[in-house]
Amino acid sequence: MVFSGYRRRRRARQLARRLVELDQWDAQHGLGAPLPPPPTRRRTSVLPALVIVLVLAAAVVLHPTLLPHSWRETVGVVTDRLAVPEVVTGQGSYAFLATQPGSEAPVGYDPCRSVEVVVNPSGAWEGHEEMVAAAVERTRQASGIDLRLTGTTDDREHERRGPGDPVLVMWADEDEVAELAGDVAGLGGSTAVEVQPGLRHYVTGIVVLDTDVPGTAGGRGRQAVMDHEFGHLVGLGHVDDPGELMHHAGGHRLGYGPGDREGLARLGAVPCR
Ligand SMILES: [Zn+2]
Repeated sequence: MVFSGYRRRRRARQLARRLVELDQWDAQHGLGAPLPPPPTRRRTSVLPALVIVLVLAAAVVLHPTLLPHSWRETVGVVTDRLAVPEVVTGQGSYAFLATQPGSEAPVGYDPCRSVEVVVNPSGAWEGHEEMVAAAVERTRQASGIDLRLTGTTDDREHERRGPGDPVLVMWADEDEVAELAGDVAGLGGSTAVEVQPGLRHYVTGIVVLDTDVPGTAGGRGRQAVMDHEFGHLVGLGHVDDPGELMHHAGGHRLGYGPGDREGLARLGAVPCR
């Protein structure tokens, strides 16, 4: 992981150097200026191709949606942060499940990488597809963390998930997942690893819903449970304020509250690797 990160940074530095060269080129000639008259040396055949490459590199940076993610990875720009939500402070309560060593800064997912989410539909609540999609979208929008729902799986490994594993959403009972005993309706959380000295990121996680949670009108109670667990997944802890969805019993909300949103925005603002 560290080696891969190093290589990405080195590619990014190389790209940055090329962009500086491009800036110098622009400063001298203006963007879109005609190419200089061909020098007498053989460099003529190289320069136009080089400029095309540099313009392509600049386009990738300036217009992140212009080219597929895999292309941007190839030139060392892994992904861009989604629009980081504005942090509205002091409107409510929030807490983090984990903080960086020796700091109050939260542990979160890398905001510059997408986070794959797969669903094991065995035992799922009725209408679960729409509910998972809604929870993913709300959490993505509130945090800026690029959660991506990519498909279904028969994987049920909820205890040993590590780097490279997608986030798993599944349903279970207390016989399979002991933590679901009693009135616990769901679990959510993630695995953190140190990606740089002093910087921990979550790399994968789980959301486990209790098959026994009763449905209510329109499934809204179940949706609140799912959203609450997605809050845990990306790093929110419990608060005592019943005006927040991250109240230990879900509070009296059906969606994220003001403090939940502040906490989610802060989780999406952690440093990229
Ligand atoms: Zn909880």
